[in-house]
Amino acid sequence: MSEYNKPLPQPSKTSRPFWDAAKRHELMLQRCEACAQFIYYPRARCPHCFSDRLVWRKCSGKGTLYSFTVVHRPATRLFADGPYVLAIVELEEGPRMTTNIAAPADQLKVDMPVTVFFDDVTPQCTLVKFKPA
Ligand SMILES: [Zn+2]
Repeated sequence: MSEYNKPLPQPSKTSRPFWDAAKRHELMLQRCEACAQFIYYPRARCPHCFSDRLVWRKCSGKGTLYSFTVVHRPATRLFADGPYVLAIVELEEGPRMTTNIAAPADQLKVDMPVTVFFDDVTPQCTLVKFKPA
């Protein structure tokens, strides 16, 4: 593993289960027990019905490519090893997740199926990314 110099997520009390699951190579999202919706990003209350009855559930890791762009000029030099694909993936469970797609942009098409993979960027941190299914 080469040295990783980009900014890393700083898990909060609310988001820590998501990052702990990623480290186990599992995609887990909160699901609202009151309205049965999955939600992303991690929150203390459901954005659909405002219930606090949220539980963590393992998800399929499958989704479709909702939208994407190729970043050639990053906002910070810390991401200057691009270009890279910044995407929104619509998960099978419903929520949309901003992420990276590990594939050349000319191989991507909106609505194509994608699948999660887990990038162990440091011994402490695993990032959730996607690739064509
Ligand atoms: Zn709800």
